[in-house]
This record gives sequence, structure tokens and C-alpha cells, in this order.
Amino acid sequence: MIKITNLHKNFGDNQVLKGISEHIRQGEVVSVIGPSGSGKSTFLRCINLLEQPSQGDIEIEGQLITAPNACVDKLRQKVGMVFQNFNLFPHKTVIQNITLAPISLKLMTPAQAETKALDLLAQVGLSDKANAYPASLSGGQKQRVAIARALAMEPDLMLFDEPTSALDPEMVGDVLDVMKDLALKGMTMVIVTHEMGFARDVSDRVIFMDGGYVVESSPPDELFSHPKEARTQAFLSKVL
Ligand code: ADP
Ligand code: MG
Repeated sequence: MIKITNLHKNFGDNQVLKGISEHIRQGEVVSVIGPSGSGKSTFLRCINLLEQPSQGDIEIEGQLITAPNACVDKLRQKVGMVFQNFNLFPHKTVIQNITLAPISLKLMTPAQAETKALDLLAQVGLSDKANAYPASLSGGQKQRVAIARALAMEPDLMLFDEPTSALDPEMVGDVLDVMKDLALKGMTMVIVTHEMGFARDVSDRVIFMDGGYVVESSPPDELFSHPKEARTQAFLSKVL
């Protein structure tokens, strides 16, 4: 579903991604782990062109999104993204947050979008919050709304950038449960996370990044129990 070839990203002189090649299959759940500053967010942001790659190709469902004439809006419809800090619209209710994009892009009528939003709110366990404003929600609830909002576009692929890092510990489980549910339903997912237990349980594959490279990419049991590379071992010895 995603084919990344020799992806480079520089910010000025700072080479952040130094040649990443990865294939991600349809339905695959891939966790990306690694030290702070290793390029994980930049990698994710390149996949939906929130950052423009400096070099290399990215194909999604056979479309070369790094081509000069590629349609970014079409891409964004196929690729949902969830950020650490939720990014909800504060002056809109939960249901307005969820229905805004599908209605304004004319993908659904307002009635269709509302039906869909109520379904999604049920899926993330927040049916009673449709008319609430974000400020009245806990962090965990906000993040589940953000997930519902991304799903409202019926994406083929979901990207998560440390979705639980800003949450109080007691909120983390509910968000991870929603993500696990999504994984079990067959969603293709790329998840930057520090939740090693979750990465181990839910992922088909774990990518360890360091210094702008993919150092190691293996099924979770292999990566966590028998890391091949010294850098992976050193990182895991600090976080496990
Ligand atoms: P990670 O998510 O693994 O912590 P990032 O991808 O956020 O790493 O950042 C990797 C490096 O890229 C850091 O040195 C960071 O300062 C730099 N960087 C990220 N985004 C930008 C940007 N928009 N402009 C300049 N430098 C950036
Ligand atoms: Mg990051």
C-alpha cells in the first residue's frame, strides 16, 4: 500500500532523514520507535506531505505522491492523521469537529456526515459527547474525538504521531483500546509511539529509527526479544 524509496528530508543543513526505504502492506500495523530527534515525526509527516521530501519517492496505492503534479487533497482524504496534541477546533462541538471536513469537501451531505459521526462516536465510546465542546473533555476523550474525526474521511491509512504522549496515564488505555480495535478491523496503521507494550501487542512490525535511518525493522517479538543491532539493544535497554 505504501512504497517509500530512498526518502531524504533536510531542514537547511540538518539532514533529518537519510535514505529510508520501506514497504507497508495493506492492513499492516507498523509501530515506529526510536530516540527523540531521530526523525520519526518527520518520516510520518512526509507520508502525507505535511513535509515535502527533499529526495526520494513515496507511492500510496500505486500513486506517486511525490510527483510534481500529485493531488495533495486526494492524498489527505485517503490518509488520516492523529497528532499528540489533538488539534481539535475549540469553538466547534464534537460532532461539528467530526463532520466539518466531509461536509465542506462535499464528500457527504450534512445528514450523512452526522450519521457517520454518531457511529464513530459510538465506536470510540463517546456517544454522550456529541454536543460537548473540546474544552469540557479530558485529554483521552479529546484524542478519541480526534481519531473519530480522522476516520470520518473513511481513510485507507491512519498515521498516529505519539497519540498518547500528552495524556495522563489513566487516559492512555482507552485511547490504545480504540487503536487496537481499529487494527483488528484491518486498518493500515503507522504509529509513532513510546508505548512499547502496545507496540509489542498490536504491531505486525516494529521499525527502530535512529539518526535519520531505519536501523532495524522486524516483527515485534523479534525486535524486542532479539534485537540484531547494537543501537536497538542500547535503546531498548533504556526504555524497557
Ligand atoms: P522525532 O519525532 O523522532 O523526535 P523529528 O522528526 O521531530 O524527530 O525531528 C528530527 C529533527 O528534525 C530534529 O533535529 C528537529 O529539530 C528537526 N526538525 C523537525 N521538524 C523541523 C522543521 N519544521 N524545521 C526545522 N527542523 C525540523
Ligand atoms: Mg516526534
